[in-house]
Amino acid sequence: MARSTTATIHPDALRHNLGVIRKLAPASKVMAIVKADGYGHGLERVANALAGADAFGVAALADAERLRATGLSQPILLLSGFDAPDDVPRMRALNVWSVVHHASQLEMLEQSEGTEPLRCWLKVDTGMHRLGFAPEEVRDVYARLKALTSVDDEIGLLQHFASSDEYLDSASRGAQTLSQLSVFDSVTQGLAGERSMANSAAVLGWPQSHGDWVRPGGALYGISVCEGKTGADYGLRPAMTLTTRLISVKSIPAGGRVGYAGTWTAPEDMRIGVAAVGYGDGYPRMAASGTQVRVAGKVVPTVGRVSMDLMTIDLRTCPEASTGDEVTLWGEGLPVEHVGESAGTIGYEPVCSITRRVRFVED
Ligand SMILES: *Cc1c(COP(=O)(O)O)cnc(C)c1O
Repeated sequence: MARSTTATIHPDALRHNLGVIRKLAPASKVMAIVKADGYGHGLERVANALAGADAFGVAALADAERLRATGLSQPILLLSGFDAPDDVPRMRALNVWSVVHHASQLEMLEQSEGTEPLRCWLKVDTGMHRLGFAPEEVRDVYARLKALTSVDDEIGLLQHFASSDEYLDSASRGAQTLSQLSVFDSVTQGLAGERSMANSAAVLGWPQSHGDWVRPGGALYGISVCEGKTGADYGLRPAMTLTTRLISVKSIPAGGRVGYAGTWTAPEDMRIGVAAVGYGDGYPRMAASGTQVRVAGKVVPTVGRVSMDLMTIDLRTCPEASTGDEVTLWGEGLPVEHVGESAGTIGYEPVCSITRRVRFVED
């Protein structure tokens, strides 16, 4: 079987989305978050399209190395910082900035005194309770960083939101975000340095959090994490289209059960299509019967379980469909957020899950 599963990446959409973000946060610099291989879109490809960003954020030092190998000159922030003393000189050599979120990192910096200064961002745990120093530790850590000659004098201050997709008009009235904003504000009061608070959801809905640097990830790829909303609702365009082809179109009798475990039963004699895509390509196995795909210009539902290489599609409303037709799994007009939701997750996960056997092209 010649597989035709293809992820088409749209550099124009990435640039468009960066423009939307710049309009929303006109006074802030933009750090484009490109972790997880640019949210599955391809690190180098994404960085190239987003050459207009002011900086890039990665989760792994190896990704910073890949970015520098492309000739990218903007600063790169390692979002979880270094976790081994050897990383520090590598980071200096690559002009990579580090988040400092833990005492173990302070010790490593103290041991690397006498070398070129490293630009650091002090991370405050304002209430997400993942990475960061507790509010009461922040001033002491800041002073320790300031005292180190191995640390650049300009220390940034950042925090990360846990629920910034809940806005003031939500049931929670944004309580956690308001609390995190207020903790960050009071803890960093009077400390010199640039501020960075906002992820995509905060860029879209919390203008008071924009600060000196915004750190959008998902929004750049056109994906929203706000419940019931898709990127298109914010004027964003999907940066990835996932397509494949129908490799079989056939009639099945009423009562026929489709796929593994026979979870879907044909209510009448009908045609189904079999598309060459499955969880082995990264399409979520948990996507329920009824998840929408597009065949021959029509939006139609999937039926039965998604298997490793194949999925089955209800073609009752698409009599013109035939073998070889293109099938779109997500893209413009077919939000990956809906695929994620149907699989009990968010739109970020399907795009990050695309596997190596999928062909990548750019348009
Ligand atoms: C992933 C990440 C972001 C971007 O989050 P999005 O929801 O994709 O915008 C920003 N900051 C940090 C620290 C992150 O880990």
